[in-house]
Amino acid sequence: MNAPVYLDHAATTPVDPRVLAAMMAVLGPDSGHGNPASVQHPEGQRAAAAVARARAEVAQLIHADAREIVWTSGATEANNLALKGAAQFYRERGRHLVSALTEHPSVRDPLAALEAQGFAVTRLSPAADGRIHPEQLAAALRPDTVLVSLMHVNNETGIIQDIAALGAVCQAREVRFHVDAAQSAGRLPIDVRTLPVDYLSLSAHKLYGPQGIGALYVRDRPRAGLAPQMHGGGQERGRRSGTLATHQIVGMGAAAALIYQERETEQARLALLMARLQQALADLPDLLWVGAQAPRVPGIVNVAVQGVAGEALLASLWGTISASAGSACTAAEGEPSAVLQALGLDPVTAQGALRLSPGRWTHEAEIDRAAAVLRRTILRLRRVAAGESVDDLPGPAALPPIYGAAVTAWFGHLRGAGRLAPGPGVVTGEAGAPRLGRWVRWDLAVRAERIERACFSAWGCPATLAVTAWTAQWLEGRDLVAAAALTGAQMAEALDLAGARRGVALTVEDALRAALAAQHGEVMSTQSVRG
Ligand code: PMP
Repeated sequence: MNAPVYLDHAATTPVDPRVLAAMMAVLGPDSGHGNPASVQHPEGQRAAAAVARARAEVAQLIHADAREIVWTSGATEANNLALKGAAQFYRERGRHLVSALTEHPSVRDPLAALEAQGFAVTRLSPAADGRIHPEQLAAALRPDTVLVSLMHVNNETGIIQDIAALGAVCQAREVRFHVDAAQSAGRLPIDVRTLPVDYLSLSAHKLYGPQGIGALYVRDRPRAGLAPQMHGGGQERGRRSGTLATHQIVGMGAAAALIYQERETEQARLALLMARLQQALADLPDLLWVGAQAPRVPGIVNVAVQGVAGEALLASLWGTISASAGSACTAAEGEPSAVLQALGLDPVTAQGALRLSPGRWTHEAEIDRAAAVLRRTILRLRRVAAGESVDDLPGPAALPPIYGAAVTAWFGHLRGAGRLAPGPGVVTGEAGAPRLGRWVRWDLAVRAERIERACFSAWGCPATLAVTAWTAQWLEGRDLVAAAALTGAQMAEALDLAGARRGVALTVEDALRAALAAQHGEVMSTQSVRG
């Protein structure tokens, strides 16, 4: 059994063993490291020196001065600190902020919080190519605009914003500019000596460093104002209190130093891998490679797979490919990605989006394996939706544990997927729609008040498909009275569906009722002809 192919480096990267070694060296009773603020003894001095070195390493990655680096717990905190800190600092100058609809939630949500405190926020929508254009930004600036926040590389699509041009617009109008560089640092060169950026957020766990550590770059000359959000011991020159996490900081420094050295070769390798994947899937119809026309980083690819339910696609990949639907953060909410919708994708297409992000240890054989699994999975789900048999295409042996054993077993086979040729005794009925999250169609062959065959077409989550397959088998050979008495609750019971998932059985039941009503209608019309 192969380990899953990990294609979710945009969500988090494994810690590089070289980084791990650097971190281990400052942990444990024999490390001789103390609190970096306790410079009155050697242990504290040692920790302070390790932190200073890491600060220089992180600064080097973006060509900043070490004093311009403020340690945070990650890019989320860096974004919060920049947005709230700048808004508060400049509040007497103005209360208007500008950002984009396609930002990460760790920018979108602090902006909403500031809005609730009386700030006005303009949210730009990217053009069809995914980019925010400088003229568009210039037109959004008002005399009371104090801050613009735009991300460098989008975490869902890999699309690159031209932060040099956008920053120039801000600089010309003396508006502060914040850039979320969580996904771009280590992928693209960043040089704050020439880029007109005042604040820039970084995260270690996107750079093969540990989770839980990041940094905010805050420009010293000219100084960018920042009201601290964390008060306490006055660390980080008062900008962010709290004992420094020496081992995390050392890890981020080591990760930054490595990626600074290896970035170009690594990016070139990722580009080859992604080209290989795209090539391997090139003949599959209706794959929408998001942002194909826009400048993008090679390591983040978003492909909207039309004709399949995104949840079923992702679940089918369990144990073989580890990827994200749209983005790790929005996936949890179960809503189609707001970022993809802002790029003009309709909600049904957006929910079928898969983000694939290979990384430092992804190799060609894994890409080939991933392509083969994707091809088979997409084919299988599209066939079920089109009412074609998948008896020759078994599904995954396992699904994510949330689905339970019964759904896993039934989803694995989906016997009964198919259509019946129209004719006497064949009735059909359907319910739901892809835009509602699920759709089921029944084709029933009825003879002498008995269901001889039950075939289905279905689109939806694994539970929808599993319930449908279970019901198909249950229906075969039953008389119409028994079939009419079957309820969604019974289906849900049989498949062990809990909570909100029980609702999927209602769509299966509704489709069945529609088919049985059609059957009733057919009998009625036959009788009236006879009469
Ligand atoms: N911004 C972007 C663009 C991101 O991709 C992420 C991570 N998903 C964050 C911010 C948040 O970073 P962290 O996990 O370090 O808080």
